[in-house]
Amino acid sequence: MKIGIIGSGCSAIYLACILKAKDFKNDVSLLDINFIPGKKFLITGNGRCNLANTLVTNDSYNNDQTKKIIGNTPAKDIISFLGEVGILTRDLGNLIYPFSLSAQDYLSQLIRFLKERNTKFINDFNVLDYQETNKGVKIIGKEKCYVFDKVIIATGGLSKINLKQRTNMFNILKTHKYSISPVKPGLNPIKSIENVKSLENLRAKGDVKLFIDNKEIYKESGEVQFKKDGLSGIAIFNCSSLIARYKDFKVAKISIDLMPDHSEEQINDILKKFNNASKYSCLDGLFAPKFSEFIRQKANVKNLYLFTNSEISKLATTIKNLIFTFKEAYGFEDSQVTIGGVSYSNLSDTLESKIEKNIYFIGEVLDADGLCGGYNLMFAFKSAELVSKNL
Ligand SMILES: Cc1cc2nc3c(=O)[nH]c(=O)nc-3n(C[C@H](O)[C@H](O)[C@H](O)COP(=O)(O)OP(=O)(O)OC[C@H]3O[C@@H](n4cnc5c(N)ncnc54)[C@H](O)[C@@H]3O)c2cc1C
Repeated sequence: MKIGIIGSGCSAIYLACILKAKDFKNDVSLLDINFIPGKKFLITGNGRCNLANTLVTNDSYNNDQTKKIIGNTPAKDIISFLGEVGILTRDLGNLIYPFSLSAQDYLSQLIRFLKERNTKFINDFNVLDYQETNKGVKIIGKEKCYVFDKVIIATGGLSKINLKQRTNMFNILKTHKYSISPVKPGLNPIKSIENVKSLENLRAKGDVKLFIDNKEIYKESGEVQFKKDGLSGIAIFNCSSLIARYKDFKVAKISIDLMPDHSEEQINDILKKFNNASKYSCLDGLFAPKFSEFIRQKANVKNLYLFTNSEISKLATTIKNLIFTFKEAYGFEDSQVTIGGVSYSNLSDTLESKIEKNIYFIGEVLDADGLCGGYNLMFAFKSAELVSKNL
């Protein structure tokens, strides 16, 4: 049986490894516009490749079908399979990385494993379309075509890619009558309605909460990085994905508790004590001067220093609840995952197309997205594992 995988990204390479580990005689080809198979791996986890996460919560994935594919022991399954390919992993808390902490070394080992088993890499091949024929599924490029018995579509999403260089697979799939849930950038910075220019390049640690239409829907401790027009950092990336998953809402707000280990009362006491220590703003003993000034203005406090008791209480409230209103998300070029994609309604439980024969889907091309922390690669791998069982 000839198997063609469109894409040689993270899910495709994992699937090819499973098929070759099962039987090295399996005839597997990967077709990709890139010259380097698995190129995406190299930018994951800041070059360290966060492969999986041992902790899956309700927010980790976007919908029940995605959670079902992830299953109960995803990290364990992946660690165990990587052992068969000769790759050791390490845990950093809940996060799983290759032992080498190097995406490059990890990818090299996967590619060696595949090349030793005669996997075919058809690089620099832009897939323009595919077609069912009586000889099998024909994959169509500009100058060449290839025919396979089964084709797996593993073309990923639209995050951090160059659409000038390759055909957008979602558009091809629409012509094949697949329904595509609206695609939006996820895990990306957000722009705020508030002017944050004065905070550009500053960082703040704290508890980040997301409120959608006044309902708290998420909380995470982390570091927020300020951009000239908005907020960034892992906790913000997660909030941006959760906002993008919402179909309909009026207002989304992000609240940062800048001193989660202190009660408002304790902050009041600290500020009162510091207020008498210097003629400068007592906030400068806690935050960078630009940040102090931002908090003072947000709290609507008139005095620049030597605050009144009621001003101190307003400052303490603002420190516990510094609010930013969501304006819009940054684009695909700044995002790590694509929200939306091929709807599960087009597919069987084994990710086989209900619309066309011998077509399967894995990875981010599906309407599947996870939060930051190895969840997206974990889905890429688990969806590949599911398809491998049913080919
Ligand atoms: C900066 C960054 C960091 C990330 N870090 C992490 C992390 O640490 N942990 C984690 O879990 N997730 C991470 N992700 C997300 C993760 O990389 C993706 O979810 C994962 O790569 C999806 O795998 P995939 O196989 O579905 O798609 P991809 O890996 O994107 O592969 C798709 C392949 O299909 C090819 N292709 C598409 N269309 C065509 C066409 N028409 N013709 C030919 N070839 C085509 C592409 O060239 C590409 O090689 C990160 C993403 C980014 C952008």
